Amino acid sequence: MNVQGPLSQKMFAAAKQVIPGGVNSPVRAFRNVGGEPFFVRRAAGSRIEDIDGKHYIDYIGSWGPNILGHAPVAITNTIHEVAKSGISFGIPNLFEVEMARTICEWVPSVEKVRMCNSGTEATMSAIRLARGFTKRDCIVKFDGCYHGHSDSLLVAAGSGALTHGEPDSAGVPRSFAEKTIVLPYNDPEVLESLFASRGEEIAAIIVESYPANAGLVLPRAGYLDLLSSITKKYGALLIFDEVMTGFRLGQAGVQGLESLTPDLSCFGKVIGGGLPVGAFGGRADVMDFLAPLGPVYQAGTLSGNPLAMAAGLAQLRELKNRSGFARLDSLGAHFEQGLRQLLTEKGVPHRFNRAGSMFCLFFTEREIVNVSDVMKQDLGFFKKFFWGCLDKGIYLAPSPYETGFISLAHTEADLDDTLTVFGEVLAEI
Ligand SMILES: *Cc1c(COP(=O)(O)O)cnc(C)c1O
Repeated sequence: MNVQGPLSQKMFAAAKQVIPGGVNSPVRAFRNVGGEPFFVRRAAGSRIEDIDGKHYIDYIGSWGPNILGHAPVAITNTIHEVAKSGISFGIPNLFEVEMARTICEWVPSVEKVRMCNSGTEATMSAIRLARGFTKRDCIVKFDGCYHGHSDSLLVAAGSGALTHGEPDSAGVPRSFAEKTIVLPYNDPEVLESLFASRGEEIAAIIVESYPANAGLVLPRAGYLDLLSSITKKYGALLIFDEVMTGFRLGQAGVQGLESLTPDLSCFGKVIGGGLPVGAFGGRADVMDFLAPLGPVYQAGTLSGNPLAMAAGLAQLRELKNRSGFARLDSLGAHFEQGLRQLLTEKGVPHRFNRAGSMFCLFFTEREIVNVSDVMKQDLGFFKKFFWGCLDKGIYLAPSPYETGFISLAHTEADLDDTLTVFGEVLAEI
């Protein structure tokens, strides 16, 4: 088995005594690549150092939030300053209004927004709101799309086999899961025939704006427009889960890039600047169904927390001031060009999908249309590639179903060094 340095090994053994599986979120256990995780001592910019003193160039960025890189001064200073005036109040504060204004300004479909503490809370609440607003029970999601771990959404959520209304997790009642209709992504015919037969029962379609939790899968031309028009036609809502893509792929996320106006949108990750934050927002008439104005209950002791709001605002400000989205796209393009050239030279069968600073390399020649194509890549090859890279100081996600992230702290030199390592690793496999 692939293990880490002696201190990480020791800590992982100790962690397993008191934390289930030694981790607070399953993918961190490295089980998808067969091995054990390292423990972080510190991180700065594009680099992570583990407790054994080994350094890595990081392509995970805390699974998306760290778009400026690790520990950016703009955020650490803000947190220090704001904390001096109090850490949590549980009563309105100025930062939450500024955050809401910023989201509404950057994302035109969002007229009103409510803050919460994670992406899971955002999607869970958006689903409840859509059901309350439409007075319908069924929701439609797509196979392989992950929307956090609430009961209604933990169906075919990622790398699981194609199932219909079968929960992915023990503990989710089948009667809940049955209200979640799962369809293959990028298939207009099945969507149209479902709505033709059951359109009146459907409260909402929820979709990852660009599905990025089972590899990175891109929509076929016209597919997102179809989601929009079909929900309108049948009186259902379209919920865009932009927890990963929001404030990463542009000021208005994928909906900005694709010129779409979803009814509701969910956010998280980047808007928290590394602190625990989620948000959901959209049409004012729908949002006003929330308590205290309306009948749909939703709440949170720490929601709108001043530290989290201020950290998120500092991150968004930096992105804007530094023309971050254009810079991230150009870093992504630089990486893509080098990588494609390398893989072609080495004759490695592959597909490479990229959107701005998000990327995913698949070891397969199949076109990647949906999760069933992702599942057919050469997983054994991926494992060897992952461990080879980690050994040489490149930290990619420890699973073939995750998307990689480039941050503003990465330089062209980091990316070129990474490609050099890729070349060395490929030569050894
Ligand atoms: C990460 C993610 C979530 C869940 O967010 P958490 O903060 O982990 O609860 C939901 N949807 C998408 C698209 C995500 O990438």
